[in-house]
Amino acid sequence: MKNLVILGSTGSIGVNTLDIVAAHPDRYRVMALTGGNNIERLEEQIRAFRPRLVAVISSHQAETLRQRLGEIAPEILHGVEGLMACASHGEAHMVVSAIVGAAGLIPTMAAIEAGHDIALANKETLVTAGPLVMARAAARGARLVPVDSEHSAIFQSLEGHRKGDVRRLILTASGGPFRERSLAELAQVTPADALQHPNWSMGRKITIDSATMMNKGLEVIEARWLFDLPAERIDVHVHPQSIVHSMVEYIDGSVIAQMGIPDMRTPIAYALSYPERIALKIPQLDLCRIGRLTFEQPDLRKFSCLKLAYEALREGGTAPAVLNAANEVAVESFLRGEISFLNIGRVIATVLEAPRENQLEHIDDVLRADRWARSRAAKTIEAIV
Ligand code: NAD
Ligand code: MG
Repeated sequence: MKNLVILGSTGSIGVNTLDIVAAHPDRYRVMALTGGNNIERLEEQIRAFRPRLVAVISSHQAETLRQRLGEIAPEILHGVEGLMACASHGEAHMVVSAIVGAAGLIPTMAAIEAGHDIALANKETLVTAGPLVMARAAARGARLVPVDSEHSAIFQSLEGHRKGDVRRLILTASGGPFRERSLAELAQVTPADALQHPNWSMGRKITIDSATMMNKGLEVIEARWLFDLPAERIDVHVHPQSIVHSMVEYIDGSVIAQMGIPDMRTPIAYALSYPERIALKIPQLDLCRIGRLTFEQPDLRKFSCLKLAYEALREGGTAPAVLNAANEVAVESFLRGEISFLNIGRVIATVLEAPRENQLEHIDDVLRADRWARSRAAKTIEAIV
Protein backbone atom coordinates (compact mmCIF):
# COMPACT_ATOMS: atom_id res chain seq x y z
CA MET A 1 0.00 0.00 0.00
CA LYS A 2 1.46 3.33 -1.06
CA ASN A 3 0.31 6.45 0.80
CA LEU A 4 -0.11 9.42 -1.52
CA VAL A 5 -0.30 13.16 -1.07
CA ILE A 6 -1.73 14.98 -4.09
CA LEU A 7 -0.85 18.67 -4.33
CA GLY A 8 -3.28 20.30 -6.79
CA SER A 9 -5.78 17.42 -6.72
CA THR A 10 -8.58 19.46 -8.33
CA GLY A 11 -6.62 20.16 -11.52
CA SER A 12 -6.27 18.13 -14.68
CA ILE A 13 -3.32 16.03 -13.41
CA GLY A 14 -4.87 15.72 -9.95
CA VAL A 15 -8.16 14.38 -11.32
CA ASN A 16 -6.35 11.89 -13.57
CA THR A 17 -4.25 10.75 -10.61
CA LEU A 18 -7.34 10.12 -8.49
CA ASP A 19 -8.86 8.21 -11.41
CA ILE A 20 -5.91 5.80 -11.20
CA VAL A 21 -6.15 5.62 -7.40
CA ALA A 22 -9.87 4.77 -7.67
CA ALA A 23 -9.04 1.94 -10.09
CA HIS A 24 -6.35 0.51 -7.75
CA PRO A 25 -7.65 0.86 -4.18
CA ASP A 26 -5.54 -2.15 -3.19
CA ARG A 27 -2.34 -0.25 -4.06
CA TYR A 28 -2.89 3.42 -3.21
CA ARG A 29 -4.32 5.33 -0.27
CA VAL A 30 -4.81 9.10 -0.23
CA MET A 31 -3.30 10.76 2.86
CA ALA A 32 -3.68 14.42 1.87
CA LEU A 33 -5.22 16.56 -0.87
CA THR A 34 -4.82 20.23 -1.74
CA GLY A 35 -6.89 22.45 -4.02
CA GLY A 36 -6.93 26.11 -4.89
CA ASN A 37 -10.03 27.26 -6.64
CA ASN A 38 -12.58 24.46 -7.09
CA ILE A 39 -14.06 23.83 -3.65
CA GLU A 40 -16.99 21.78 -5.01
CA ARG A 41 -14.64 19.32 -6.68
CA LEU A 42 -12.39 19.19 -3.62
CA GLU A 43 -15.43 18.39 -1.48
CA GLU A 44 -16.38 15.49 -3.79
CA GLN A 45 -12.79 14.21 -3.67
CA ILE A 46 -12.71 14.35 0.13
CA ARG A 47 -16.00 12.42 0.31
CA ALA A 48 -14.69 9.80 -2.11
CA PHE A 49 -11.11 9.36 -0.86
CA ARG A 50 -11.30 10.40 2.81
CA PRO A 51 -7.84 12.00 3.22
CA ARG A 52 -6.58 12.74 6.76
CA LEU A 53 -5.37 16.22 5.85
CA VAL A 54 -6.49 18.87 3.33
CA ALA A 55 -5.14 22.31 2.41
CA VAL A 56 -6.77 25.16 0.51
CA ILE A 57 -5.59 28.70 -0.30
CA SER A 58 -7.68 30.87 2.05
CA SER A 59 -9.13 30.53 5.56
CA HIS A 60 -12.52 31.38 4.03
CA GLN A 61 -12.30 28.33 1.73
CA ALA A 62 -11.28 26.18 4.69
CA GLU A 63 -14.32 27.32 6.69
CA THR A 64 -16.66 26.71 3.73
CA LEU A 65 -15.32 23.17 3.34
CA ARG A 66 -15.65 22.43 7.07
CA GLN A 67 -19.28 23.54 7.04
CA ARG A 68 -20.15 21.52 3.96
CA LEU A 69 -18.46 18.36 5.20
CA GLY A 70 -19.77 18.55 8.75
CA GLU A 71 -18.68 15.66 10.91
CA ILE A 72 -16.74 13.87 8.18
CA ALA A 73 -14.47 16.92 7.70
CA PRO A 74 -10.77 16.02 8.00
CA GLU A 75 -8.21 18.48 9.34
CA ILE A 76 -8.29 21.41 6.89
CA LEU A 77 -5.40 23.88 6.74
CA HIS A 78 -4.82 26.88 4.49
CA GLY A 79 -2.10 28.97 2.91
CA VAL A 80 1.48 28.01 2.11
CA GLU A 81 1.89 26.50 5.60
CA GLY A 82 -1.06 24.21 4.88
CA LEU A 83 0.44 23.12 1.56
CA MET A 84 3.78 22.45 3.26
CA ALA A 85 2.14 20.43 6.03
CA CYS A 86 0.44 18.23 3.41
CA ALA A 87 3.63 17.91 1.37
CA SER A 88 5.67 16.80 4.38
CA HIS A 89 2.99 14.52 5.89
CA GLY A 90 4.76 11.95 8.07
CA GLU A 91 2.92 8.92 6.68
CA ALA A 92 3.31 9.76 3.00
CA HIS A 93 5.34 7.56 0.67
CA MET A 94 4.97 9.67 -2.44
CA VAL A 95 3.89 13.23 -3.17
CA VAL A 96 2.24 14.03 -6.51
CA SER A 97 3.32 17.58 -7.31
CA ALA A 98 0.51 18.88 -9.56
CA ILE A 99 0.00 22.52 -8.63
CA VAL A 100 0.34 24.82 -11.65
CA GLY A 101 3.07 27.44 -11.88
CA ALA A 102 5.78 28.70 -9.53
CA ALA A 103 3.28 28.28 -6.66
CA GLY A 104 4.29 24.60 -6.73
CA LEU A 105 7.93 25.25 -5.83
CA ILE A 106 7.77 25.73 -2.04
CA PRO A 107 5.40 22.80 -1.35
CA THR A 108 7.47 20.51 -3.60
CA MET A 109 10.64 21.55 -1.77
CA ALA A 110 8.90 20.77 1.54
CA ALA A 111 8.14 17.25 0.25
CA ILE A 112 11.78 16.83 -0.81
CA GLU A 113 13.05 18.05 2.57
CA ALA A 114 10.77 15.45 4.19
CA GLY A 115 12.59 12.85 2.06
CA HIS A 116 9.44 11.82 0.16
CA ASP A 117 9.56 10.49 -3.38
CA ILE A 118 7.99 12.91 -5.84
CA ALA A 119 5.80 12.24 -8.87
CA LEU A 120 6.66 15.51 -10.56
CA ALA A 121 4.10 17.17 -12.83
CA ASN A 122 4.89 20.74 -11.73
CA LYS A 123 7.68 21.42 -14.24
CA GLU A 124 8.00 24.99 -12.95
CA THR A 125 9.76 23.57 -9.86
CA LEU A 126 12.73 22.45 -11.99
CA VAL A 127 12.52 25.41 -14.37
CA THR A 128 12.82 27.98 -11.61
CA ALA A 129 15.16 26.20 -9.19
CA GLY A 130 16.54 23.14 -11.03
CA PRO A 131 20.07 22.90 -9.57
CA LEU A 132 18.89 23.62 -6.00
CA VAL A 133 16.03 21.11 -6.24
CA MET A 134 18.22 18.35 -7.65
CA ALA A 135 20.87 18.93 -4.97
CA ARG A 136 18.33 18.80 -2.13
CA ALA A 137 16.64 15.70 -3.60
CA ALA A 138 20.01 13.92 -3.70
CA ALA A 139 20.87 15.05 -0.16
CA ARG A 140 17.51 13.93 1.25
CA GLY A 141 17.26 10.70 -0.77
CA ALA A 142 14.02 11.85 -2.44
CA ARG A 143 13.47 10.26 -5.84
CA LEU A 144 12.02 12.51 -8.56
CA VAL A 145 9.94 10.52 -11.04
CA PRO A 146 8.63 12.58 -13.94
CA VAL A 147 4.93 12.80 -14.80
CA ASP A 148 5.37 15.10 -17.77
CA SER A 149 4.81 12.72 -20.71
CA GLU A 150 8.05 13.67 -22.53
CA HIS A 151 10.18 13.20 -19.43
CA SER A 152 8.42 9.98 -18.55
CA ALA A 153 9.23 8.78 -22.08
CA ILE A 154 12.91 9.70 -21.63
CA PHE A 155 12.99 8.20 -18.14
CA GLN A 156 11.59 4.95 -19.57
CA SER A 157 13.98 5.05 -22.55
CA LEU A 158 16.95 5.41 -20.18
CA GLU A 159 15.99 2.37 -18.08
CA GLY A 160 18.60 -0.34 -18.39
CA HIS A 161 21.09 1.88 -20.25
CA ARG A 162 24.24 3.67 -19.14
CA LYS A 163 23.87 7.41 -18.82
CA GLY A 164 27.37 7.88 -20.22
CA ASP A 165 26.23 6.31 -23.49
CA VAL A 166 23.59 8.97 -24.17
CA ARG A 167 24.35 11.31 -27.08
CA ARG A 168 21.24 13.49 -26.92
CA LEU A 169 17.62 13.70 -25.86
CA ILE A 170 14.91 14.44 -28.43
CA LEU A 171 11.78 15.96 -26.94
CA THR A 172 8.72 15.74 -29.13
CA ALA A 173 6.17 18.55 -29.34
CA SER A 174 2.70 18.46 -30.88
CA GLY A 175 3.23 21.98 -32.24
CA GLY A 176 -0.07 23.02 -30.65
CA PRO A 177 -3.12 24.46 -32.39
CA PHE A 178 -1.10 27.03 -34.41
CA ARG A 179 1.51 24.82 -36.03
CA GLU A 180 0.23 25.56 -39.51
CA ARG A 181 -0.64 29.24 -39.02
CA SER A 182 1.61 31.93 -40.49
CA LEU A 183 3.28 34.56 -38.32
CA ALA A 184 0.79 37.14 -39.66
CA GLU A 185 -2.12 34.89 -38.70
CA LEU A 186 -0.69 34.37 -35.21
CA ALA A 187 -1.05 38.11 -34.59
CA GLN A 188 -4.84 37.68 -34.74
CA VAL A 189 -5.50 34.53 -32.70
CA THR A 190 -7.76 34.74 -29.63
CA PRO A 191 -7.63 33.02 -26.21
CA ALA A 192 -10.50 30.76 -27.35
CA ASP A 193 -8.43 29.67 -30.40
CA ALA A 194 -5.37 29.04 -28.22
CA LEU A 195 -7.34 26.97 -25.70
CA GLN A 196 -8.17 24.39 -28.42
CA HIS A 197 -5.35 21.88 -28.12
CA PRO A 198 -5.42 19.25 -30.89
CA ASN A 199 -4.26 16.21 -28.85
CA TRP A 200 -4.15 16.81 -25.09
CA SER A 201 -6.78 18.00 -22.61
CA MET A 202 -5.00 20.01 -19.89
CA GLY A 203 -5.28 23.01 -17.55
CA ARG A 204 -5.59 26.49 -19.09
CA LYS A 205 -2.06 27.73 -18.39
CA ILE A 206 -0.26 24.74 -19.90
CA THR A 207 -2.66 24.79 -22.86
CA ILE A 208 -1.61 28.36 -23.69
CA ASP A 209 2.03 27.38 -23.10
CA SER A 210 1.52 24.63 -25.69
CA ALA A 211 0.13 27.13 -28.19
CA THR A 212 3.19 29.43 -27.77
CA MET A 213 5.52 26.41 -27.45
CA MET A 214 6.77 27.90 -24.17
CA ASN A 215 5.67 24.55 -22.76
CA LYS A 216 8.40 22.85 -24.80
CA GLY A 217 10.90 25.48 -23.69
CA LEU A 218 10.03 24.82 -20.04
CA GLU A 219 10.36 21.11 -20.75
CA VAL A 220 13.85 21.53 -22.24
CA ILE A 221 14.88 23.25 -18.98
CA GLU A 222 13.12 20.54 -16.94
CA ALA A 223 15.02 17.85 -18.91
CA ARG A 224 18.32 19.67 -18.42
CA TRP A 225 18.08 19.26 -14.63
CA LEU A 226 16.23 15.97 -14.44
CA PHE A 227 18.66 14.17 -16.74
CA ASP A 228 21.75 16.34 -16.16
CA LEU A 229 22.53 17.12 -19.81
CA PRO A 230 23.43 20.54 -21.27
CA ALA A 231 21.06 22.46 -23.56
CA GLU A 232 23.19 21.59 -26.62
CA ARG A 233 22.26 17.93 -26.15
CA ILE A 234 18.51 18.46 -25.87
CA ASP A 235 16.67 18.85 -29.18
CA VAL A 236 13.02 19.39 -30.04
CA HIS A 237 11.15 17.71 -32.92
CA VAL A 238 7.60 18.72 -33.79
CA HIS A 239 5.52 15.55 -34.05
CA PRO A 240 1.86 16.48 -34.60
CA GLN A 241 0.44 12.99 -33.90
CA SER A 242 1.75 12.98 -30.27
CA ILE A 243 2.37 9.21 -30.37
CA VAL A 244 6.15 9.18 -29.86
CA HIS A 245 6.37 10.92 -26.48
CA SER A 246 10.16 11.53 -26.69
CA MET A 247 13.41 9.73 -27.50
CA VAL A 248 16.95 9.07 -26.34
CA GLU A 249 19.76 8.80 -28.90
CA TYR A 250 22.79 6.73 -27.87
CA ILE A 251 26.42 6.95 -29.02
CA ASP A 252 26.03 3.88 -31.28
CA GLY A 253 23.21 5.58 -33.23
CA SER A 254 20.41 3.66 -31.52
CA VAL A 255 17.36 5.76 -30.77
CA ILE A 256 14.99 4.46 -28.08
CA ALA A 257 11.52 5.96 -27.99
CA GLN A 258 8.45 5.49 -25.84
CA MET A 259 5.07 5.51 -27.61
CA GLY A 260 1.44 5.52 -26.60
CA ILE A 261 -1.81 7.29 -27.24
CA PRO A 262 -1.82 10.80 -25.72
CA ASP A 263 -3.37 10.10 -22.31
CA MET A 264 -1.73 11.49 -19.16
CA ARG A 265 -2.88 8.50 -17.12
CA THR A 266 -0.06 6.43 -18.64
CA PRO A 267 2.85 8.62 -17.40
CA ILE A 268 1.05 9.34 -14.10
CA ALA A 269 0.56 5.61 -13.47
CA TYR A 270 4.19 4.91 -14.32
CA ALA A 271 5.36 7.54 -11.83
CA LEU A 272 3.10 6.07 -9.12
CA SER A 273 4.04 2.44 -9.75
CA TYR A 274 7.70 2.73 -10.85
CA PRO A 275 9.60 0.43 -11.24
CA GLU A 276 6.51 -1.75 -11.74
CA ARG A 277 3.64 -1.14 -14.14
CA ILE A 278 -0.06 -1.27 -13.38
CA ALA A 279 -2.93 -2.08 -15.74
CA LEU A 280 -4.93 0.84 -17.14
CA LYS A 281 -8.19 0.74 -19.06
CA ILE A 282 -7.22 3.02 -21.92
CA PRO A 283 -7.62 2.50 -25.69
CA GLN A 284 -4.88 0.48 -27.39
CA LEU A 285 -2.41 2.24 -29.67
CA ASP A 286 -3.33 1.26 -33.24
CA LEU A 287 -0.38 2.37 -35.40
CA CYS A 288 -1.91 0.85 -38.54
CA ARG A 289 -4.94 3.09 -38.17
CA ILE A 290 -2.75 6.15 -37.47
CA GLY A 291 -0.67 5.18 -40.51
CA ARG A 292 1.94 7.97 -40.51
CA LEU A 293 4.16 9.49 -37.86
CA THR A 294 5.76 12.75 -39.00
CA PHE A 295 8.52 14.95 -37.60
CA GLU A 296 9.68 18.49 -38.41
CA GLN A 297 11.89 21.25 -36.96
CA PRO A 298 10.13 23.85 -34.78
CA ASP A 299 9.79 27.32 -36.36
CA LEU A 300 11.59 29.60 -33.89
CA ARG A 301 10.42 32.75 -35.66
CA LYS A 302 6.80 31.86 -35.02
CA PHE A 303 7.44 30.32 -31.63
CA SER A 304 9.86 32.82 -30.10
CA CYS A 305 9.05 31.52 -26.60
CA LEU A 306 10.92 28.29 -27.32
CA LYS A 307 13.98 30.29 -28.39
CA LEU A 308 13.76 32.48 -25.28
CA ALA A 309 13.68 29.39 -23.06
CA TYR A 310 16.90 28.03 -24.64
CA GLU A 311 18.51 31.46 -24.17
CA ALA A 312 17.46 31.64 -20.51
CA LEU A 313 18.82 28.14 -19.92
CA ARG A 314 22.16 29.08 -21.51
CA GLU A 315 22.32 32.26 -19.43
CA GLY A 316 21.66 30.21 -16.28
CA GLY A 317 21.31 31.57 -12.75
CA THR A 318 17.86 33.01 -12.16
CA ALA A 319 17.17 33.65 -15.87
CA PRO A 320 14.84 30.59 -16.16
CA ALA A 321 12.90 31.73 -13.05
CA VAL A 322 12.55 35.18 -14.65
CA LEU A 323 11.41 33.61 -17.93
CA ASN A 324 8.85 31.51 -16.08
CA ALA A 325 7.41 34.34 -13.97
CA ALA A 326 7.17 36.72 -16.93
CA ASN A 327 5.44 33.97 -18.87
CA GLU A 328 2.89 33.35 -16.10
CA VAL A 329 2.00 37.04 -15.99
CA ALA A 330 1.87 37.38 -19.79
CA VAL A 331 -0.30 34.27 -20.20
CA GLU A 332 -2.81 35.53 -17.62
CA SER A 333 -2.90 38.90 -19.34
CA PHE A 334 -3.49 37.22 -22.72
CA LEU A 335 -6.29 35.08 -21.23
CA ARG A 336 -7.93 38.26 -19.88
CA GLY A 337 -7.88 39.66 -23.41
CA GLU A 338 -5.42 42.49 -22.61
CA ILE A 339 -2.46 41.57 -24.81
CA SER A 340 -2.19 39.79 -28.14
CA PHE A 341 -0.83 36.28 -28.58
CA LEU A 342 2.49 37.45 -30.06
CA ASN A 343 2.92 39.94 -27.24
CA ILE A 344 3.35 37.04 -24.78
CA GLY A 345 6.82 36.42 -26.23
CA ARG A 346 7.57 40.14 -26.51
CA VAL A 347 6.77 40.76 -22.84
CA ILE A 348 9.03 37.88 -21.76
CA ALA A 349 11.88 39.07 -24.02
CA THR A 350 11.63 42.60 -22.62
CA VAL A 351 11.76 41.35 -19.04
CA LEU A 352 14.72 39.06 -19.78
CA GLU A 353 16.65 41.92 -21.39
CA ALA A 354 16.40 44.22 -18.35
CA PRO A 355 19.50 44.29 -16.13
CA ARG A 356 19.20 42.28 -12.90
CA GLU A 357 21.09 40.16 -10.43
CA ASN A 358 21.59 36.62 -11.62
CA GLN A 359 22.98 34.56 -8.75
CA LEU A 360 21.22 31.32 -7.85
CA GLU A 361 22.47 29.95 -4.55
CA HIS A 362 19.37 29.75 -2.42
CA ILE A 363 15.60 29.39 -2.87
CA ASP A 364 15.28 33.02 -1.75
CA ASP A 365 17.20 34.04 -4.90
CA VAL A 366 14.49 32.29 -6.93
CA LEU A 367 11.64 33.92 -5.01
CA ARG A 368 13.26 37.35 -5.37
CA ALA A 369 13.79 36.88 -9.12
CA ASP A 370 10.20 35.63 -9.45
CA ARG A 371 8.78 38.74 -7.70
CA TRP A 372 11.03 41.07 -9.67
CA ALA A 373 10.02 39.49 -13.00
CA ARG A 374 6.30 39.62 -12.17
CA SER A 375 6.44 43.32 -11.43
CA ARG A 376 8.59 43.99 -14.53
CA ALA A 377 6.18 42.00 -16.68
CA ALA A 378 3.18 43.89 -15.28
CA LYS A 379 4.90 47.23 -16.07
CA THR A 380 5.78 46.04 -19.57
CA ILE A 381 2.16 45.06 -20.17
CA GLU A 382 0.91 48.43 -18.85
CA ALA A 383 3.13 50.13 -21.40
CA ILE A 384 1.64 48.02 -24.21
CA VAL A 385 -2.09 48.33 -23.42
P1 NAD B 1 -4.68 22.84 -13.56
O1 NAD B 1 -4.81 24.30 -13.73
O2 NAD B 1 -5.70 21.95 -14.17
O3 NAD B 1 -4.65 22.49 -11.97
C1 NAD B 1 -3.79 23.16 -11.12
C2 NAD B 1 -4.02 22.74 -9.67
O4 NAD B 1 -3.23 23.61 -8.84
C3 NAD B 1 -5.45 22.89 -9.18
O5 NAD B 1 -5.72 21.89 -8.20
C4 NAD B 1 -5.44 24.27 -8.50
O6 NAD B 1 -6.45 24.38 -7.52
C5 NAD B 1 -4.06 24.29 -7.89
N1 NAD B 1 -3.51 25.64 -7.73
C6 NAD B 1 -3.43 26.60 -8.69
N2 NAD B 1 -2.84 27.70 -8.17
C7 NAD B 1 -2.55 27.41 -6.88
C8 NAD B 1 -1.95 28.16 -5.82
N3 NAD B 1 -1.52 29.42 -5.99
N4 NAD B 1 -1.80 27.56 -4.62
C9 NAD B 1 -2.23 26.30 -4.43
N5 NAD B 1 -2.80 25.54 -5.40
C10 NAD B 1 -2.97 26.10 -6.60
O7 NAD B 1 -3.21 22.44 -14.03
P2 NAD B 1 -2.72 21.06 -14.70
O8 NAD B 1 -2.96 21.10 -16.15
O9 NAD B 1 -3.23 19.90 -13.91
O10 NAD B 1 -1.16 21.20 -14.51
C11 NAD B 1 -0.53 21.02 -13.25
C12 NAD B 1 0.98 20.96 -13.47
O11 NAD B 1 1.29 19.80 -14.21
C13 NAD B 1 1.54 22.14 -14.25
O12 NAD B 1 2.81 22.47 -13.76
C14 NAD B 1 1.67 21.59 -15.67
O13 NAD B 1 2.71 22.21 -16.39
C15 NAD B 1 2.00 20.14 -15.39
N6 NAD B 1 1.61 19.22 -16.47
C16 NAD B 1 0.30 19.10 -16.79
C17 NAD B 1 -0.08 18.24 -17.82
C18 NAD B 1 -1.54 18.05 -18.18
O14 NAD B 1 -1.85 17.18 -18.99
N7 NAD B 1 -2.47 18.78 -17.61
C19 NAD B 1 0.89 17.54 -18.53
C20 NAD B 1 2.23 17.69 -18.16
C21 NAD B 1 2.58 18.54 -17.12
MG1 MG C 1 4.69 17.58 -21.51
